[in-house]
Amino acid sequence: MINKQKTMLEKIAREHGTPVFIIDHKKIRENYNEFREKLPEVQAYFAVKANSNPEIIKTMYDMGASFDVASFPEFMLVYDNIKHLPEEERQDFIWNKIIYANTIKPAEVLAKLNAYKILVTFDNIEELRKIKKYAPDVGLVLRIRVPNTGSMVELSSKFGAHPGEAVDLIAEAINFGLGVEGISFHVGSQCNNFDNYSQALNFASSIFKEAQLRNYHIGFTGKEEKKRKILDIGGGFPVKYTPDVKSFSSLSEKLNSEIKRLFPIDDIQVIAEPGRFIVATACTLITKIVGKAVRDGKTCYYLNDGVYHTFSGQVFDHQPYPLHSIKGGVKKVCATFGPTCDAFDTISLADELPEDLQIDDLLYAENIGAYSIASSTHFNGFPPAKIVHLNKL
Ligand SMILES: *Cc1c(COP(=O)(O)O)cnc(C)c1O
Repeated sequence: MINKQKTMLEKIAREHGTPVFIIDHKKIRENYNEFREKLPEVQAYFAVKANSNPEIIKTMYDMGASFDVASFPEFMLVYDNIKHLPEEERQDFIWNKIIYANTIKPAEVLAKLNAYKILVTFDNIEELRKIKKYAPDVGLVLRIRVPNTGSMVELSSKFGAHPGEAVDLIAEAINFGLGVEGISFHVGSQCNNFDNYSQALNFASSIFKEAQLRNYHIGFTGKEEKKRKILDIGGGFPVKYTPDVKSFSSLSEKLNSEIKRLFPIDDIQVIAEPGRFIVATACTLITKIVGKAVRDGKTCYYLNDGVYHTFSGQVFDHQPYPLHSIKGGVKKVCATFGPTCDAFDTISLADELPEDLQIDDLLYAENIGAYSIASSTHFNGFPPAKIVHLNKL
């Protein structure tokens, strides 16, 4: 980080105190534009769970994004942006630009969702029975289980119908009188292995073919009065936290050519659910040293943010966030701890920071926008970091 940026961080910390979580909306817009440019045929549904800050949702809404929500409160966060629209436009937005992509939905949530006739995912017969009973008017997308090999966050043990059962489930849904509009998958979050996408696309293509052979019609009737199937390629698009992560350009090129090869373009609507890719690089956390000790010859810094808070991603998302110091100095291995009275609240036992930092000195972590503040707790009486917005339009 250049000195000018460090000066800006110091200024923000002085003005707002610490810990402070900075959201740069310009970077969010750039990330969304990059996604759109490199996957021009793919409609991007921002996965709200990566960072559900209402101002981020507003920025995405203003950019014309679509949304992947996975709980009723997340749906309402998006709905807040459209509630002023005339009813017909609002309903069109829900139909065309929101997917409820949690395959498991409590009965009472289904009953509420039914009124919006929203698109939802499912992956098992029990869920279909619930949907038939509580939400017969929603549209359905079947989530299939696909390889998550080498992805940072594995999802295939929890979600997805086995591809071998897929057409039987589609048949059940259609026999229940429900509408199946497409197929979805998720290759695992922070996926650095293109084979996952490739295999998933092959599964989806075979399932569409088998369904057609068995005369089960998948698809929705769009404005052009033509049956279109939804192919939802999920999330997983990797962020270059470290140099070894492959570039998004190389992934998008492969995706574009595989999609073209496997799916005749005019009867498929391809959608994706990027979460991390949109928000990770747009956020920076500033924290402060509040205590210092030397234990077994190692310098230990105690900070006012930790793994129960903005660094929660280190636990749930398996993503390390190296700390940097605003002050220069010769770096040495040190330990960094969060503020709570739990030894689990350890950010790192091997951070590299100047050894002569003092209490009140500032540290920062970059690329910390995804699955971080979203899963911060209030444990031990410490509230989540204060949020500051930059470059909002
Ligand atoms: C979490 C999630 C996403 C977002 O995944 P990223 O790897 O952050 O892009 C997309 N779709 C579903 C169904 C999810 O659960």
